[in-house]
Amino acid sequence: MFTTSLVPVPVLARLRTQIQDWDAADSNWESRNSRGRKCTDARITHRGSAWYDGDDKHACKTCTEAGHVCGVARGGRIEILPLRGEAAQALGSLEVGYWMLGTLA
Ligand SMILES: [Zn+2]
Repeated sequence: MFTTSLVPVPVLARLRTQIQDWDAADSNWESRNSRGRKCTDARITHRGSAWYDGDDKHACKTCTEAGHVCGVARGGRIEILPLRGEAAQALGSLEVGYWMLGTLA
């Protein structure tokens, strides 16, 4: 289901929680691709979102600010998008802060 296997466990746990929300909102969400204007979370939850400056290679504004994992579903897979910014990029994909903001339990 996930395109990357190198995502830290807390990030996957957060994504699983979001997927439960998506399942509850739309059982067919996996078949809907979400490239374009909104990430999967925005499409399914209708929370509304916009990519930063049209940048759909990094986490969107809404997911970032909410501490969510941002990603796009394509062909039954979810591509998780890293946060924007040098601080996140400097961490690298093995660090939680590369993928999402927020407090960690
Ligand atoms: Zn998003």
